[in-house]
Amino acid sequence: MWPYANEADAIKDVLRLARGMTYKCAAAGLSYGGGKCVVIGDPKRDKSEAKFRALGRFINRLNGLFITGIDVGTNLDDMLLMRMETPYVVTLPESWGGPGDTSQVTAFGVVQGIRACLNEVYGSPELRSRTIALQGVGAVGKHVLRYLLESSAIVTLTDIDQEKATLAAEEYKAQIASPQEIHRLNVDVYCPCALGNLLNDQTIPELRCKIVCGSANNQLGEERHGDLLQELGILYAPDYIVNAGGLLAGVDSLNPGGFNRQRAMEKVSRLYDAIESVIAISKEQNIPTYRAADVLAEKRTSSIRQAKSLATRNEWINYR
Ligand code: NAD
Repeated sequence: MWPYANEADAIKDVLRLARGMTYKCAAAGLSYGGGKCVVIGDPKRDKSEAKFRALGRFINRLNGLFITGIDVGTNLDDMLLMRMETPYVVTLPESWGGPGDTSQVTAFGVVQGIRACLNEVYGSPELRSRTIALQGVGAVGKHVLRYLLESSAIVTLTDIDQEKATLAAEEYKAQIASPQEIHRLNVDVYCPCALGNLLNDQTIPELRCKIVCGSANNQLGEERHGDLLQELGILYAPDYIVNAGGLLAGVDSLNPGGFNRQRAMEKVSRLYDAIESVIAISKEQNIPTYRAADVLAEKRTSSIRQAKSLATRNEWINYR
């Protein structure tokens, strides 16, 4: 949910997000396709039971073709309102067999991504004394902040919501930077956990980090910005690989018996290996990491296609 300026902006965003979802599911090893919805409105002012129940009814009409969950601007209460109208909501509270707020699991995945990138750049995944610029201390960012500080990293944070930034900095004794300067800081890792389109012609020449790794969706303004990062020697952890933790947790709750935290966290900890695979493909094929992530995802979609055709053949043999 976001106060898009107009419908065209919302449609552009939802198409980007849906495409991202296809690749994200595939790269995370899941057997789901891509779908996403956006709600036009200010999450602070425009929420109502009527709106979320209407959305729930609409999703229900799709009869399981589309399953939704929490993302920017929405919370568990909104999901419960939709659950009154449809079972096709995955990010429910644990008492409903869901994973609860998935932002913590997403944050855990982001930290695994950061560790894998540090290992590639510095030869060790150790977070202690590493400097991190954290953009956005919302649902995911505040958990990333906690994980990083628990591992003795040195974090400078920002948020356009000044109150959130001040509260987080006071609680965790972190430093604050302005939203305009966060990407310019001379740090090991720039960790974007706000909105997308932040790696662009204006910001990339100003980066002074070695690694970009964060939860924000659609970080690259355009694909060519991924090429530019590689040319500059900045390791970019593709967003949809690194932020798959929430998705893995949500999908885990579709198992009979519902969500199992230990099983989900084990899957999320493997995002470290996923980032390692992306880096390996990038080096082998001499392509930027954003493209290597697509190669990983496309490998998975073609292997699923094969699995389906094999199943069809076996069914045919059994039939004979
Ligand atoms: P959120 O709305 O809770 O937090 C976003 C924060 O970023 C807010 O505090 C907002 O004030 C701040 N912000 C917005 N623009 C900013 C700017 N220009 N500079 C600094 N701060 C800014 O959202 P979230 O759930 O934490 O998600 C953050 C990002 O991670 C989004 O891009 C989302 O799509 C992505 N993501 C989230 C999840 C999840 O589990 N919540 C999963 C995958 C991806």
